[in-house]
Amino acid sequence: MKLLQSSLLATSLLCATHLYAQAPVVIQGALDIETDHMVSKLSHVKTKTYGGWQFWEGQYKGHPIVISRTRMGMTDAAAATTLAIEHYHPAAIINQGTSGGHDPELKVFDIVLGKTSENIGAFITPKKALGEGSNALTWNKPFNVLPNDNSDAEASRHLTFAGDNNLIQAANKTTYTKGRVVEGVIGSADVWNNELDRIKFFHDHYKTSVEEMETASAAQVASFYKVPFLGIRVLSNNATNNGGYNPNTGEACQDYALDVATTYLAAQKK
Ligand code: SAH
Repeated sequence: MKLLQSSLLATSLLCATHLYAQAPVVIQGALDIETDHMVSKLSHVKTKTYGGWQFWEGQYKGHPIVISRTRMGMTDAAAATTLAIEHYHPAAIINQGTSGGHDPELKVFDIVLGKTSENIGAFITPKKALGEGSNALTWNKPFNVLPNDNSDAEASRHLTFAGDNNLIQAANKTTYTKGRVVEGVIGSADVWNNELDRIKFFHDHYKTSVEEMETASAAQVASFYKVPFLGIRVLSNNATNNGGYNPNTGEACQDYALDVATTYLAAQKK
């Protein structure tokens, strides 16, 4: 048994290192506007496709980086994260891209570092009879999809995923000139919310700074593998203060995420 375990370990280390001398950082983005710019900045690029998910293995300023296009939404983010971890055994994963503001203080181009992320699409609703209608503002019980013991008592606890402290430290050392960088809560679900009362509900009850559709899902998978993880989200829109959608924010966030990854890898080498 011991022998089997150590040979399995050796195989997985080999996989991790056959491409790179140092384990890479995987940087994820859902859309072209959240990945293409990073890919264009890599050298020695090789492209791989697993199922519906594309990866670009390369180097940035001499550091090993894999870019992953996860596609949109929670399911795709989880699948792409599993593939990334199994194929690259990364030193860390950064999930980055655009988002919608929940905090009226934040402007388009500001960046939120996910001190925590949470699935804001999982609820137990109040009971109502036929004809009584539905009011999402009364859905105040989050559904904890990962109870410790499968008991109902656990079902309505908030389930949050913490951003890795070393990655947050690297991010705080990295220069960003297009807006502010703040730490906050990233809320994820397969929903684009445009109702201001609903957005305020999340901001009040979940303390969300922004919403998007991938981070908490990728964070959940990374947590099971114990891979250091951070969500980095630029505001591309903010309905709470008339911040109109600006797709150029995608490029700004990619530049910042690449710099955070290299700062992190340089610190790991020391
Ligand atoms: N041009 C695309 C826009 C997709 S927006 C289209 O129309 O198909 C959805 C993507 O942007 C998701 O990957 C999500 O993570 C992010 N996003 C940006 N702002 C968002 C918001 N306000 N709510 C939810 N997702 C948002």
